[in-house]
Amino acid sequence: MPKKRKSGGRRKGKSGNPGFVQCSSCGKHVPRDKAKRVTKNVSLVDYQMVKELRAQGAQIPRQKVIKYYCVSCAVHRRVVKVRAKAERKNRS
Ligand SMILES: [Zn+2]
Repeated sequence: MPKKRKSGGRRKGKSGNPGFVQCSSCGKHVPRDKAKRVTKNVSLVDYQMVKELRAQGAQIPRQKVIKYYCVSCAVHRRVVKVRAKAERKNRS
């Protein structure tokens, strides 16, 4: 059968079972290497407060939040896009 994608939609290559993660949006169980990982710098303080505090010279710490999305949620949130047939084989 012809392959839709060279990697089968994953990045594990020959290595074995990479384990599973849960999608942050829908809760689906996804292989770790297939899930789309998104890192965000999130401030815990309200934006208006941050503005005021920064004006007074305060430093507000930011937290890194790592989220995993399943492919359908990643497409829905525009993390990745649906690519044309010829472009799917291209990995970069
Ligand atoms: Zn999902």
